[in-house]
Amino acid sequence: MNTQKSKELFAEAQKYIPGGVNSPVRAFKAVGGNPLFIKKAKGAYIYDEDDNQYIELINSWGPMILGHAHPAIEAAIAAAIPNSFSYGAPTKREVEMAELIVAMVPSVERIRMVNSGTEATMAAIRVARGFTGRSKMIKFQGCYHGHGDAFLIAAGSGALTMGTPDSAGVTKGVAQDTLTAPYNDLAAVKALVEANPSQIACIIIEPVAGNMGCVTPSADFLEGLRTLCDQEGIVLIFDEVMTGFRLAKGGAQELLGITPDLTTLGKIIGGGLPVGAYGGKKEIMDCVSPVGKVYQAGTLSGNPIAMAAGYAMLTILNEQPDIYIQLTKITEKVTEGIQKILKELSLNYTINQIGSMYSLFFTEEKVVDFDTAKTSNTQLFGKYFQAMLQKGVYLAPSQFESLFLSVALSEENIEQIIEANRFALQQIAQEVQEV
Ligand SMILES: *Cc1c(COP(=O)(O)O)cnc(C)c1O
Repeated sequence: MNTQKSKELFAEAQKYIPGGVNSPVRAFKAVGGNPLFIKKAKGAYIYDEDDNQYIELINSWGPMILGHAHPAIEAAIAAAIPNSFSYGAPTKREVEMAELIVAMVPSVERIRMVNSGTEATMAAIRVARGFTGRSKMIKFQGCYHGHGDAFLIAAGSGALTMGTPDSAGVTKGVAQDTLTAPYNDLAAVKALVEANPSQIACIIIEPVAGNMGCVTPSADFLEGLRTLCDQEGIVLIFDEVMTGFRLAKGGAQELLGITPDLTTLGKIIGGGLPVGAYGGKKEIMDCVSPVGKVYQAGTLSGNPIAMAAGYAMLTILNEQPDIYIQLTKITEKVTEGIQKILKELSLNYTINQIGSMYSLFFTEEKVVDFDTAKTSNTQLFGKYFQAMLQKGVYLAPSQFESLFLSVALSEENIEQIIEANRFALQQIAQEVQEV
């Protein structure tokens, strides 16, 4: 496969952009080799600057759930463009968007639009702190909530891959208010709450984790958090930037039947444009300025082009809930195919899957949290990744990411993905035998 143009662009990029990329994981550091520079994408396929075609299993880290450049979203954006691109003033579309989100997401009674998932989580914890008058927050090891200072403690994926889980530039003062517990460990959370009586403002969690690879919550874990938060007056925040509109039209909270106090959204909500949002109970959201005393603002928030794209996306998902059944079927076909190949090759690696998210972990351990995720052999993952790429399948370039499937994948694509896995895993099996 010729990727000469990507190589040249990467060399050029590094002259002007730190590491040549605008978000660290894109640099392929965890898997080796040269990042692909993307020229275009359509449906189930993405194309690099050398015109190589790949089947998409990242889909912009989630937003392209309908496949790339879906005609309805393209049309919505095109229709919005002649009316100018930003006003910094309220619009009718924002009201329609808010109404739709409130109807779709169980916990959301009031919603505020922002421009990214990071902004959403930063605002949500500020609101939780303003509401409770408390300072401390509990997050889970391996969960990622964007790059806000308070979250860059045991932060999963990008931070994990780069080997700097605690970022430089985060002050001790900020870090001391972030307490961390292992995912799926309710007893550890209870111990933290007991050790910090009436000081915990919020518990923030990915209700299904995607940023240490795909890790699902055990049966009673989220329910236990819900009960604990009710007892202790703690605001429970579900960070559904990844899972929102992906695992169900109402997100993980609908799928799992647990309702948080606040929810953060991103990725799919913008249909591919930069949008985030946070929302929840009326009484908590009424703390937000200009009603309440928690300040939060945004010049481009509710941007009309972004709202047009997001509204078109959410409308489709709301009106065609069969999409979720279809997505799960597609994903299960892929993971069952991989499982079969693993068995044939006597490899006992772990696959975690829920709805249209899955990860293949190069470990024989059950992956239930950050520590078990880290037992994965990342070198083997790197080899697997390169072999998959060679066979035309574009995966997330890190062991500690989930894959995000789109409804654009055809039966033929599914077969191609499974066959690419056969090729890649045969190489891995050989490698393991030689050792
Ligand atoms: C991607 C992600 C974020 C950050 O969103 P950005 O739009 O990248 O700022 C926050 N939380 C979760 C769970 C995410 O997956």
